Amino acid sequence: MSDSLLTGIDDAQVLDANIALPYTLTTGRAAGTFLAGLGDKRILASRCDTCARTMTPAQDYCNRCGEPSGEFLSMPETGTVTAITRTESVTLALIRIDGSDTDLMHRLSSGGPAADVGTRVRAVWADTPTQSMLDLDCFTPDDSGAEPGTPSPTGDIEPITEIPYAIDLAYRHSYGPHYGRLFDELATRRRILGSKCPQCRNVLVPPREFCDICFVRTAQHVDVADTGVLQAFSIIHMEFVGQTRKPPYVYAEIVLDGSATRLIHTVGGHDVDTLKERLSIGMPVRAVWKDAADTRGTLDDIDHFAPVFEQLP
Ligand SMILES: [Zn+2]
Ligand SMILES: [Zn+2]
Repeated sequence: MSDSLLTGIDDAQVLDANIALPYTLTTGRAAGTFLAGLGDKRILASRCDTCARTMTPAQDYCNRCGEPSGEFLSMPETGTVTAITRTESVTLALIRIDGSDTDLMHRLSSGGPAADVGTRVRAVWADTPTQSMLDLDCFTPDDSGAEPGTPSPTGDIEPITEIPYAIDLAYRHSYGPHYGRLFDELATRRRILGSKCPQCRNVLVPPREFCDICFVRTAQHVDVADTGVLQAFSIIHMEFVGQTRKPPYVYAEIVLDGSATRLIHTVGGHDVDTLKERLSIGMPVRAVWKDAADTRGTLDDIDHFAPVFEQLP
């Protein structure tokens, strides 16, 4: 037995998928006030009463002495570029707003005169505020020759306390040779594939690169039966995100005939009350496949496993 048996399985199957995490972000006092200020076309800083540091954007605590910040200040719209990074799509800069002791990171306007370290810039505001950092659209070079501005008190500003936030991550997942082949076989031949360990001779389902017990590379793909034995089961009543079946249903661990590992699937074919009463560990089960037209090359091509009650003594 050698690795050469595992040939013709290099065509990587790829799954296009998306992780979406919508949630509400609690801004905190300083960031919420800073965002509220941007919506009002003002850049707000916080001032430390202890060491007199002025920080833009506003911070809840002094980033030099650690004391809680005091009043907020309304800063000028002008400043000086202190550092710059250019990417293909955007030029990012650290900007020392006039009167501030810290730098604000933001983007520079695209097009127009080029900016560099030392360039005087001024704020460009978005037409429509969206309660985001981009209410301040960008900074653009300022050649007016105007004197640097000075901070002024803000008066009371109601902070934005919460903002809707979403992480949206599109990604491509490569199944790799083992899962790819498993899904291929499920879709085209209704065969369930395992991989065999050359040392302990166990057949592992789903097939995998290494034996979990011996830590040696598996060397052969083999078919396993679509019949097996019920190893454990639970009746699921709870609904949760990502669930593909509607509760109640029976979630089961099944050891397929010819396999040494447990496959997670469902047991069905009867109402849940009947299954609850009649299922027992060690009971034979068999796969009930979906219609060929509905197969997608996943383990869900098996609709469920049906208990084989009649084989019981
Ligand atoms: Zn301080
Ligand atoms: Zn092994």
